[in-house]
Amino acid sequence: MPFQYSNELLGLPEIQLQKIISMDTQNVHLEASPVTYQQACPICGTEQDVKRDGRNKPRKIRHLSIFGRRSYLYVPSLHLACTRCRISFVWTDDFVGPKQRYSLAFRAQTVEQALGSTTAHSASMQEAPVSTVQRMHQDALPAKTNV
Ligand SMILES: [Zn+2]
Repeated sequence: MPFQYSNELLGLPEIQLQKIISMDTQNVHLEASPVTYQQACPICGTEQDVKRDGRNKPRKIRHLSIFGRRSYLYVPSLHLACTRCRISFVWTDDFVGPKQRYSLAFRAQTVEQALGSTTAHSASMQEAPVSTVQRMHQDALPAKTNV
C-alpha cells in the first residue's frame, strides 16, 4: 500500500505513517510519527532552543476504521527540552488528548453515533467498551448543548 495514500486515509496531517506493523481481517496496526521535528517550548514559545530529549514507550491510539478494520496508531512519546528555559516537556499530539487512548476523530464519531442511538448500540458498532462510550458521550455533552 503506498504510504501517501494511507496518510490521506488517516486524515491526520500532523503525523505520517512509518510502517504497517501488522494487519489481519479485523485490525490494522500502524506506526506513525510527527511530521515536524520539534514543538515550541511552552514557556518561551519558540523552537529555537528546543531539542529532542529521548522518548518513552510508544502510545497506542485507537483511530477510525481503515478498510473496514479497527486501526491502532503507535506514535512515539517524545520528550523535548528547552535549553534556554531549562525545562523538559512532552510532545503534544493534536489528534489525541493527553493520556487518552482514543483519537479525537474516533471519539467524535462514537459520540455522533451515540446521539442517534443507544450507548450500547454505539459501543457495539465501534467495538469499544460501553463504559468508555458513555464517558465519551458525557464529556461531549456540555459542548453539544452550548451550540
Ligand atoms: Zn523555552
